[in-house]
Amino acid sequence: MSLPWENACVSCTMSETRQAIVTIDGPAGVGKSTISRLIAAELGFTYLDTGSMYRAIAWVLAESGKGTDELGHDEGLATQLQGLEMDLLPPLPGEEYGRVRIGKDVLGPELRTEEMSRLASAVSTLPQVRTVLTAMQQRMGEIGKVVAEGRDTGTVVFPSAAWKFFLDATAEERARRRVRQLRARGEIVPDEAALLKNLIARDLADRNRPIAPLCPADDARIVDTTSLSIAEVVEEMLASIRKHPL
Ligand code: C5P
Repeated sequence: MSLPWENACVSCTMSETRQAIVTIDGPAGVGKSTISRLIAAELGFTYLDTGSMYRAIAWVLAESGKGTDELGHDEGLATQLQGLEMDLLPPLPGEEYGRVRIGKDVLGPELRTEEMSRLASAVSTLPQVRTVLTAMQQRMGEIGKVVAEGRDTGTVVFPSAAWKFFLDATAEERARRRVRQLRARGEIVPDEAALLKNLIARDLADRNRPIAPLCPADDARIVDTTSLSIAEVVEEMLASIRKHPL
């Protein structure tokens, strides 16, 4: 299967000033989190996982019991979200992903279920959610030295980032990686075909939403990771960063 980005895509405001920020965007299951953490550790930068912020908002909104359609017409949603305090915390020992403190709750593995992936993708289409989270992410990256990972970090959140990457791989390969990751965690994957179907559905929704769709920035380097190991991808990215110092 060919990758869909050959003629990509969104234009973004490019600025003369390059911020000391690495952006790593791409579809679900491509290995962004692992790779972003390794790049951040190697450069001594802070890792900013924007997806976990969408997951945390999805969790809070799911608690309210309202569906995405209803939330889209909720006049008070922007004010409710602006009042939310959110911090990204490091993972606990033995855990793969960082935790998110939102209001008085600290959320961890409950953000990583398939259901929460689906809900995060749904709430990420709401303009009120994107406005609040984009502003929060820009504040977190203000002083630079950040590796930001997500879907729109190179196009919308940090258009002046000095180093932009877009990682991709075929849906089949990404589903295989996700199955391996779940099994390594000791989880049972009863239906691999359903997992592939959900992954494709989430990509389609992320790609086709009107605001901040999943898309490489004009000035992003697109890396097809289908037949590369994590170490090879990291090496290629670090070489590219070092070749273009600030
Ligand atoms: O990266 P992760 O799978 O944790 O993201 C969950 C969902 O959050 C994505 O499917 C996407 O819909 C949304 N997201 C987004 N913009 C980002 C990061 C994540 O819309 N920058």
